[in-house]
Amino acid sequence: MTKFFREQIEKINLIYGVKLVVLFLIYFATAKLGLQFDAVSGFATLVWPPTGIAIAGILIFGYRYWPAIFLGAFLVNFSTGAPALVALGIGLGNMLEAVIGVFLARRFGFMREKGELKNILLFIFFCVLGSTALAATIGVTSLWLGGIVSLATYKATWIAWWVGDALGALIVGNLIINFRERLSLKNFKLKKAAEGILFFLILIVCNLFVFTNFFTTKTIETNNPIIVYTIFPLLIWASLRFGKSGAVLAVFVTSVISIWGTVLKQGPFGVGELSDNLLLLQGYIGVIAGTSMILSAVIEERLKTERELTNERNKDEAILESIGEGVIITDTNGVILMINRSAQIMLGLEPARAIGSYYEKVIHIEDKRETPLVIANCPFTLVLSSNKVITDNYYFRPRNNKKFAVNMTTSPIVFEQKVVGVIDVFRDITHEIEIDKAKSEFVSLASHQLRTPLTTMKWYSRALMKEESEKLSPKQLEYVKEMYHNNERMIELINSLLNVSRIELGRFIIKPVEINIREIANEVIHDITPYTDGKKIVIKKHYDEKIPLAMIDPNLLKIILQNLLANSIKYSKKHATVNFYIENKEKEILFIIADKGCGIAKNQQEKIFTKMFRTDNARMIDPEGSGLGLYIVKSIIEQSGGRIWFSSAINEGSTFYVALPLLGTIKREPGSRLIYS
Ligand code: ADP
Repeated sequence: MTKFFREQIEKINLIYGVKLVVLFLIYFATAKLGLQFDAVSGFATLVWPPTGIAIAGILIFGYRYWPAIFLGAFLVNFSTGAPALVALGIGLGNMLEAVIGVFLARRFGFMREKGELKNILLFIFFCVLGSTALAATIGVTSLWLGGIVSLATYKATWIAWWVGDALGALIVGNLIINFRERLSLKNFKLKKAAEGILFFLILIVCNLFVFTNFFTTKTIETNNPIIVYTIFPLLIWASLRFGKSGAVLAVFVTSVISIWGTVLKQGPFGVGELSDNLLLLQGYIGVIAGTSMILSAVIEERLKTERELTNERNKDEAILESIGEGVIITDTNGVILMINRSAQIMLGLEPARAIGSYYEKVIHIEDKRETPLVIANCPFTLVLSSNKVITDNYYFRPRNNKKFAVNMTTSPIVFEQKVVGVIDVFRDITHEIEIDKAKSEFVSLASHQLRTPLTTMKWYSRALMKEESEKLSPKQLEYVKEMYHNNERMIELINSLLNVSRIELGRFIIKPVEINIREIANEVIHDITPYTDGKKIVIKKHYDEKIPLAMIDPNLLKIILQNLLANSIKYSKKHATVNFYIENKEKEILFIIADKGCGIAKNQQEKIFTKMFRTDNARMIDPEGSGLGLYIVKSIIEQSGGRIWFSSAINEGSTFYVALPLLGTIKREPGSRLIYS
């Protein structure tokens, strides 16, 4: 076991040692090369790629590789003729430059966060401008202490040192870091590679033309400095098309060729003293490098954000695509923007045909009574005009598929407080509807069958009560009355059930005929008198003088009024008054039934027309109600083309309003009559 560990440690040390030596050798070699370029005061050269190598080395391998830098810098200076102590000072300065630069840049988030721009700015600030100034100061001060630099030459040496290091960091350092990060064949694209090769050929030719006499034997006089601007469009090309790596490489190529030309005393920077020329040239390279790197970082950041957004969008779309429910998204003009797979299958619609088309052109929708919906009544239009969510049942009639029923929720899509579209989410409920229908049919059949024996019982018990009453003892008469009463309640319930099943099967007749509304209303009041008398309730009539004849189904009107009046009596106290108004409105006839009874609590009002719903206080007052009356009333009214609504306050009373069209209600046949009892 220990042997294994020893081996591992040795292996690690071996790798470390090899890397250290490689880094040292590269550093040493490039430093030697740099010093060839007209070093100011013998040591400060304007071309100093080792700084870039040192920074990249520490960044990539880690802080523990500092000895390679230290030794490299020490030996290169020592071998160039610096006294040992001075060389040690320079070595220390160059090593600290890399270590402190990397440490500070990392400390502030370099390469940790996503922002490309932030990364490049941190790099420029700490590694290019900051730590290089420190190295220049330590290095030149060592030279001064060693008597190699005088105070008079201190400044020029310091500037040369600093500029050389800064450019080394900016160009060489950046180049290594970038290429290590990005070189991968995974994203290799032939077209892009061809463009890259073409670009670099053009760049090299332009650089040779601008900075050297490679193509011509230009005289110095013809070297107009303006010509250096021709490199700018090329660097913009690199930043736009090849990102940060492209920009860094382009700057690198430019600096190599321009330095070469300048050293050969060619090109716009080839005039005068070499050290002055190099300083000017490095200023120029600094500007183009900084600008193109910042530009490319901004562009990369934008591209990355765009990619992220596209990814997010694709993810959202994939989620919508995979939902089992049908989803259709339209814009506010009704143009389909998206239709998911389930909707495509259900509607038999190809996305190519649906997307970009108007909803009503490709989707045929009918309401739950199977009447085709015109655009004004489509859920889409209603949602846009009301800004509310609508859930209802509809039928879709696809072109090639069978018609099917859906339950659909249509909602507005709100973005930044503005409605930008509409989303439909629907599921096929054909099966549920079939089950419902079968249930209604069963209830209809059972109720129908039950009615006959109940009616027989009704007549026999009535006969016993009336014709045979004297033959019965008072106790027996009491029993018969009780039987009669309960039988009546059962008939009432069976009638309600039969009515409900006929409504649900959509099979009830609406047969409008010309009627005298007052007469019908009076008939209902007359029929209901046994109830009112029991509680000593007065129904006060307020009929408008002129109520014209109207085309209404008298049987249905009776059912409506009977239910509403019976409720207002049922839920009022004894001796109360119920006000009954019939008003002639311009296009409608309005019935108002107002009581001062128990009222309906606010939180229960929205359920009042639901099948079998009863309020808590109603259950206490009359435990036997069925909760079917208002459901039947509302269904009749709505299917006849009328409206019903109410206002109510708990313990204060309720007022129900029914409006029927004066021109006549909707007509519907064939079917069965609803029962008025
Ligand atoms: P039922 O009267 O048989 O319970 P309805 O469908 O006619 O059934 O009425 C449903 C419910 O609405 C009643 O149970 C009651 O809670 C409430 N309601 C209806 N009319 C009135 C009214 N005039 N005053 C108070 N509550 C009422």
